[in-house]
Amino acid sequence: MTYKTFTFEIDADGIALMTIDLPGQSMNVWNEDLIEDYIKAVDEFCANDDIKGMVITSGKTSGFLAGADLRMLGNMPADATAQQMFDANFKLQAAVRKMETAGHSAKNLTKGLAHAKPVACALNGLALGGGMELALGCHYRVATDGKFQMGQPEVQVGLIPGAGGTQRTMRLAGVQNAMQICTQGKPMDAKTALSQGLIHEIAPAADVVAKAKEWVKANPKSNAPWDKKGFKVPGGAGAMDPRVVPIFAGFSAMAQVATRHNYPAVRRILSSIYEGSIVPIDVGLRIESKYFVQCLMEPQAKNMIRTLFVNKQAAEKGADRPKSVGEIPMKKVGVLGAGMMGAGIAYVTARSGMDVVLLDRDMDAAEKGKDYSRKLNDKGISRGKLTKEKSEAMLAKIHTTASYDDLKDVDLIIEAVFEDPGVKKDVIEKTEAVIRDDVVFASNTSTIPISNLAKNSKRPDQFIGIHFFSPVDKMPLVEIIPGDKSGDLPLAAALDYVGKIKKTPIVVSDTRGFYCNSVVMPYLNEASRMVAEGINPALIENCALDMGMPVGPLALTDETSQELGLRIMRSAQEELGDKYQPTGVEDLMEKFVEELGRKGRKSGGGYYDYPEGGKKALWPELSKHFPLAADQPTPEEVTDRLMFIQLASVAKCFDNDIVHDPQSADLGAIFGWGFAPWTGGPMSHIDTMGVDNYVAKADALAQKYGERFAPPASFRDKKGFYEAA
Ligand code: NAD
Repeated sequence: MTYKTFTFEIDADGIALMTIDLPGQSMNVWNEDLIEDYIKAVDEFCANDDIKGMVITSGKTSGFLAGADLRMLGNMPADATAQQMFDANFKLQAAVRKMETAGHSAKNLTKGLAHAKPVACALNGLALGGGMELALGCHYRVATDGKFQMGQPEVQVGLIPGAGGTQRTMRLAGVQNAMQICTQGKPMDAKTALSQGLIHEIAPAADVVAKAKEWVKANPKSNAPWDKKGFKVPGGAGAMDPRVVPIFAGFSAMAQVATRHNYPAVRRILSSIYEGSIVPIDVGLRIESKYFVQCLMEPQAKNMIRTLFVNKQAAEKGADRPKSVGEIPMKKVGVLGAGMMGAGIAYVTARSGMDVVLLDRDMDAAEKGKDYSRKLNDKGISRGKLTKEKSEAMLAKIHTTASYDDLKDVDLIIEAVFEDPGVKKDVIEKTEAVIRDDVVFASNTSTIPISNLAKNSKRPDQFIGIHFFSPVDKMPLVEIIPGDKSGDLPLAAALDYVGKIKKTPIVVSDTRGFYCNSVVMPYLNEASRMVAEGINPALIENCALDMGMPVGPLALTDETSQELGLRIMRSAQEELGDKYQPTGVEDLMEKFVEELGRKGRKSGGGYYDYPEGGKKALWPELSKHFPLAADQPTPEEVTDRLMFIQLASVAKCFDNDIVHDPQSADLGAIFGWGFAPWTGGPMSHIDTMGVDNYVAKADALAQKYGERFAPPASFRDKKGFYEAA
């Protein structure tokens, strides 16, 4: 038989070699074609007595198999019942089990009345999600000593492994390891997988198939461990085993603290492992599929898959890139200003293989910027993540200078000098005097309109904003801001560059604060406003964390600094004059910075104290300066204010076309300021609660707390932003 997604060759010894190689794709994933082919091949494998065993490998240099094509899950009819979803999912689950047992019943296998045909997996690279699950369904696994990762990342998009991952990982590596692997979703290297019993052998990439074949030949009768008599889960299993009861209890508690009950998939993974550990594998696989379908039927998984996978990938592949512009050379980038941002931009650019000319006012300042890369590389070396040679090669790409002449052959400019229009004007003019005519000039300004800066340029049509977030090496989002004269070329160049440094771009409008800061500032102000009202700061922080924000808004205010907040407020007052809309925290900010000298984390502290080497703690004197109110609000009231101020600000940005589509609004929120990922982003969240419900609640909050919570008028006519749009 021939297949679309793999070759299936049977050698003279009767050993089949399945080489998975999805046509036209850079990486193997489970999609409809592969599942269909695989089910047929397993039938052939079991039915054909001439086939004595099988080796599965990949024809891709990129790895073995990277999980499921999540778009496939979106293809289920919207009105599919739970049973239909279960049946659809169980098809693959059943085929893997059939391969593992050669179609015999577990009873016959354990009684020795039948035996399975040996199947080995030659893992020539990463095996994630469904890739790991296919591998675990084989009796023997050889992994390459080259680039390799194994793991169950499904939890990161709100799912649980659905092709045996919870059951076989637990039966091979024990309850605790399985809980860790499946709830944390982090990939492991070959050595760890070997030590946990998840693979059997590590070999050079060129030998993995031969080694797998060798094993198949030597083991003609090879039941899975759980299909042998007397099998026990390593380390103990079940509700009655005193070795694992405390592990279950402790792990469940820890997982719920870490996820604050926002990720139902985590609870389901633990249930699947717990329940599965006390039943035979065939029942365990059905339990896993049941929990998998429960996840699929809830909004969290759907929203997370859409934003964190489908839309993120589309944005990173340049969905907004103008088709009219051909390939743009991007070998050498000029970074102007080697301060906090310039240093980070130089690092991520060189790390991605591009040469960097890092320019500052003098060599000392430029070298100081390069020191940032040196420090990060040294850290990488000390943690074994980077070799000395690679570090040196990367550092050699960063050429420091104080001379504009060195910019003459760059392909792109990114400017990150002081936030001062005069300084920026000077730098733009000096740079344009030396660079090629076709080179795009991008500014990393955070507050000056791009169209204003572009007025200083000879080529305003080639001018654009590329707005990074701090710290540049960690923050995954970049805002791209065309000015009023920007053409297609700078947009294409900016998207190409962001693609090369492997960050997620969104294209937004040229307004004060662009998109992310237009939302973050009102959100942080709302938290400060509550402090001024006498609401307990610990309550504010905990409500934000419970909601799924990675840090509390007061801690985030310290990070961005009270000093910067005050500066931005003052410059907005100056610029907008009568049109300035008070934030309600002007006095608090003045007091913090001018009177109390608490200017932010870097200047010694703000809402929190930051003891050297210790854990941050809320400043004990806060209540002296901002006395606690006798009546404290309920956590729900605080949570509503923190959530709905963000939703209102996002809704306004969407309404005013500051952010152009719900996809970008959601991506920007999650990757720009850490908006609760389980929601899929603010627009998804509004969709999930129903636009009507959102509007009604926002109206009620506006009445109680002020107009800043009011929904845009246009939302009153909307049904939804994704499916219902
Ligand atoms: P910074 O003060 O740390 O660095 C600015 C650097 O520019 C300094 O090294 C300085 O010596 C250099 N410089 C000043 N004038 C120069 C000139 N004429 N020629 C060459 N170099 C010159 O500032 P930063 O925080 O890195 O911010 C830089 C830019 O990035 C600003 O426009 C800022 O608004 C923007 N930005 C900052 C952040 C942030 O969180 N700090 C985030 C996004 C964007």
